[in-house]
Amino acid sequence: MSDLVTGIRAQVRDLLARRRVEYVVGYETGSDGVNARPFFAYTTEEADRLVFDNTCTHNLTKYLVEPERRGSTIGVVVKPCDARSLTVLLAEHKFPRDVVAIGVVCPGIVQRTREGGDGEAPQARCQVCDQHTPPACDILVGEATAEGPVLDQFARLAPLEAQSAAERSAFWSQQFERCLRCYACRQTCPQCYCDECFAEALDPEWVGVRIGRAENWLFHAIRCFHLAGRCIGCDECERVCPVKIPLGLLNRKLRKEVLDRFEYRAGTRSDERPPLETFRKEEKLDLA
Ligand code: SF4
Ligand code: SF4
Ligand code: SF4
Repeated sequence: MSDLVTGIRAQVRDLLARRRVEYVVGYETGSDGVNARPFFAYTTEEADRLVFDNTCTHNLTKYLVEPERRGSTIGVVVKPCDARSLTVLLAEHKFPRDVVAIGVVCPGIVQRTREGGDGEAPQARCQVCDQHTPPACDILVGEATAEGPVLDQFARLAPLEAQSAAERSAFWSQQFERCLRCYACRQTCPQCYCDECFAEALDPEWVGVRIGRAENWLFHAIRCFHLAGRCIGCDECERVCPVKIPLGLLNRKLRKEVLDRFEYRAGTRSDERPPLETFRKEEKLDLA
């Protein structure tokens, strides 16, 4: 058993024994015996099912925003990128600060494919990760590491940015035409938490329910603007998409724009709301 697993189990047992939390959301080994899946530990005995390895891909902060969990005292295991989600949610006052964040030093998560051929290549987000020690957690598991050089988070965008506007438009048309409107991308995203999503509202009806190119465009355009300055780059939306629409490209582009225009990276400031949620009268965005 790795030191990280031993450390997580010990911390969770302690939190549950002291009744500091009602339960802890972490990871256990899935039914295939290989990949980790989310697990809720309610008892000290159940704490011994918790694991942490390079298959712990899910961003568990998603569970914190579920309406039925409001009012509960919850512990949650977070990787550094997940911790940034938590910071955004706290800055947005999504729930009271009675969440115990168990941060785990993260060496990186590997790619897995549904078609088999699982490899040990790091996920795209991990290839450019510059924060392996979770920021602002209540409990730290693992040895804090000195962060390496800041890597280019946006290198994946270069081929698309080199294209003309017409070429990019054709690219996204092709992608969105394949969208099934299954909403898996929305359901897995911790930053998508509206009680009623605009995509399903009927009065007013912002987006038609028809699964067609125009409606799909609108769904993705509005969703990515809702996430501008709030997306922390976990890439979970892209991972769960059943038809492999490269949503990570779309969200990266918006993250880059927000960084360039507002010098703001989501999840790094707990005392400030994301820039597109605020407004200054004198602000000029120079959007020619
Ligand atoms: S982006 Fe960084 S913190 Fe997130 S899973 Fe990858 S290595 Fe871990
Ligand atoms: S990468 Fe996707 S799932 Fe993760 S925060 Fe951004 S939009 Fe949400
Ligand atoms: S997960 Fe993929 S197919 Fe489903 S709504 Fe999102 S983009 Fe469309």
